[in-house]
Amino acid sequence: MILSGNTSDNPSGNELVGFREDPPSELPKVANAEEMPWRILIVDDDRDVHQATEYALRGVAVLERPLSFLHAYSAEEAIELLKREKNVAVILLDVVMETEDAGLAAIGRIRNELGLFNPRIILRTGQPGYAPEIETIRRYDINDYKTKSELTRPKMFTTLTAAIRSYDQLCRLDASRVGLEHIISASNQFISEAGVQEFSTGVITQIAAFIGVAPEGMLCARAENNDGDAAESCVVIAATGHFSCFMGQRLVEVKHSLVVDGLLKCLRQQRSIVEPNCVSLFFPGRNSHDFAVFIECSRSLREIDQRLLEVFCTNIAICGDNVRLVDALRKIAYNDMLVRLPNRAHFIEAVNQRLAGSAQGGTDFVVALLDVDQFAEINDMLGHRYGDLLLDAIARRLETRFGDCCTIARISNDTFAILGDEADVSPESLQDFFNAIFEIEGVKRPVSMSVGLVSSKVSDSGEGDALLKDASIAVKRAKENGQGQFAWYSPEIAVSTRERTQLLHDLRHAFSQEMLFVVYQPQVDLESGRVIGVEALLRWRTPAGKSIPPDVFIPVAEQSGLIISLGSWVLRTALEASRKIEAAGHSCIRMAVNVSTNQFRQPGFIHEVFQTLDDVGVAPEWLELEVTESVAVMGLSHVEDSLRQLRARGISVAIDDFGTGYSSLSYLGRLSANRLKIDQSFIWNMSSGNSRVNIPQMVIPLGHQLDMLVIAEGVETQEQLEMLRQMGCDEIQGYYYGRPMPLDELIAWLVQRKA
Ligand code: C2E
Ligand code: MG
Ligand code: MG
Repeated sequence: MILSGNTSDNPSGNELVGFREDPPSELPKVANAEEMPWRILIVDDDRDVHQATEYALRGVAVLERPLSFLHAYSAEEAIELLKREKNVAVILLDVVMETEDAGLAAIGRIRNELGLFNPRIILRTGQPGYAPEIETIRRYDINDYKTKSELTRPKMFTTLTAAIRSYDQLCRLDASRVGLEHIISASNQFISEAGVQEFSTGVITQIAAFIGVAPEGMLCARAENNDGDAAESCVVIAATGHFSCFMGQRLVEVKHSLVVDGLLKCLRQQRSIVEPNCVSLFFPGRNSHDFAVFIECSRSLREIDQRLLEVFCTNIAICGDNVRLVDALRKIAYNDMLVRLPNRAHFIEAVNQRLAGSAQGGTDFVVALLDVDQFAEINDMLGHRYGDLLLDAIARRLETRFGDCCTIARISNDTFAILGDEADVSPESLQDFFNAIFEIEGVKRPVSMSVGLVSSKVSDSGEGDALLKDASIAVKRAKENGQGQFAWYSPEIAVSTRERTQLLHDLRHAFSQEMLFVVYQPQVDLESGRVIGVEALLRWRTPAGKSIPPDVFIPVAEQSGLIISLGSWVLRTALEASRKIEAAGHSCIRMAVNVSTNQFRQPGFIHEVFQTLDDVGVAPEWLELEVTESVAVMGLSHVEDSLRQLRARGISVAIDDFGTGYSSLSYLGRLSANRLKIDQSFIWNMSSGNSRVNIPQMVIPLGHQLDMLVIAEGVETQEQLEMLRQMGCDEIQGYYYGRPMPLDELIAWLVQRKA
């Protein structure tokens, strides 16, 4: 061993430099050369110092790991080297080099400019006068300050060991901070899709930091929706370092026997297993949602580390349960469980993202809403289970057709939405859905859908839900044109829809303020000229005196459901009027009341009619209910049953507006009604000679064939009356005899007519 000939006071430092073996001692030797070495940077302008240091420490192990050396011969060179080289543990730094304080200045640059805070710095100087010890340590972030003469070989070793130990601790703190940051960012992102993934990666990093090894490992957990053997059904849900390639694989298929054996053993025995080269940690989760982590670890774990790891595992397992719970909640919040598609909230978010993209120069897009026509009727007729199967079939077809290029969602009961490029979402691309055939449980059935589309170019709605509203305005417009139609949103449509909405609002107000009233129009027996009935017709006059025709407000009331309560009120009011007419001495006059299909569909409707008759005290035979052919859409057996119940009680039934709806002879034969009302449009056409076919002439014998009386509506002239008489029509309603009148006027009219 070279003995030191170092003299401390010579600024030129040109003497033989070496280390004194004082007292002679055995330093620990490297046992495993494979271990990662600690990197030591020697910075000195004296080449001999480099040689002597390396020579003195050759083959020595510090904290069971070998040393490796980097060399720089000036402060400037050291800075350049540190810019390139990672993981330098200790810098042995000379003070006097290119300048008298080059080493001291380098410290500031290493810490502040390069941001390297972990490498420990040991200042070595041959000229102590240039850097007073206490002042230097106080001012600079350095570990130690030694004169070269002090540094015997054992001293060098102990100084280096202390520095490396603190470097190691700083690095572990760093690693553990990184791990903690992962866990924190995972908890912050609980609500994002990356929740479980981030969390799992964080767990690996955290454990690796704990053990003091590189984060090389993988985490596996039971796959969703898998109830099989816990260990066999596990899937790799996070993998780092050279395990990354196994990400997403089933554990049993991972081609790495050490890992697979370790994890399977750990999962089956439900405990953590520490082996010489690796650890497999077990995390017990709720509802058998256990998970396990494999970490490669070339050195054996200390007892204390094992204990701490156990505590850590228990805590993390609880976190894991929470992350999974939040993940599951997120799925529920953003997905439709019935048809397994994104839901309204998810869709609105997607539209918002697309809007943000468009604002930054992205392409235009289209939102389409598909609404199943008469879904309520399908549900009523075929049952809810069938309805669910139909929705699922629609969802799957949309997925097949648009899944790759668009966002699809179910946004309410029977409404689906598509978001995509103009080229992908258009009436042409949706052609198959307007009138589709779906096979459900082996039975083919036609289903039509109304489609509303809105282009981001046309809508000025800057929010996803507003854009959806625009699309639903377009759906409404499509439905007004009949079933299986489409309509594009336009600002004009929005205006008319807004007007309808305003109308509905005003109608509700009028109803609550009792501004609606009922008028009565006489029905006369053609043969005898006797008044045999009156029809109750609803009227609305605004406070300003303007009359709003029922043709305008009844459809709005029907669409909104207001017709249910409105209809109940008309029925009661008309029956009360019927009593007053009788009390005024006019008996045997039937009261005809219009009933909307929506009302008829209400489960309690029949009972309500009976109850109202009882309440008001009118005999059932003096009530007639006018229904249109469209009631047949409810399914004939249901309609037939209801009509039979009404007739059994003595109530009569009239088929109103006959000839304008889905007239079908087979329906007509099965609808058990007393009267057929020929729509007024046919009466006008008959007398004007506009029509080639004379409908009343065909309908009257048909009604008689089916055992019904036939009444003609809208008869205004003597000529019409005579023609109808010729054809054998039974009864007449129209301005020819009398307009619809308020009750007192009607009673006066009846008195006059009797006279
Ligand atoms: P509707 O049930 O077919 O009623 C007959 C319509 O023909 C009434 O129109 C009546 O005023 C009109 N009318 C009767 N004779 C003549 C005539 O000689 N010439 C002309 N030009 N018209 C005549 P209104 O009152 O405007 O009612 C229109 C429709 O509104 C009714 O058609 C009915 O479908 C519906 N409606 C009226 N009141 C109610 C109600 O209380 N409930 C329900 N659900 N619908 C009602
Ligand atoms: Mg009517
Ligand atoms: Mg009518």
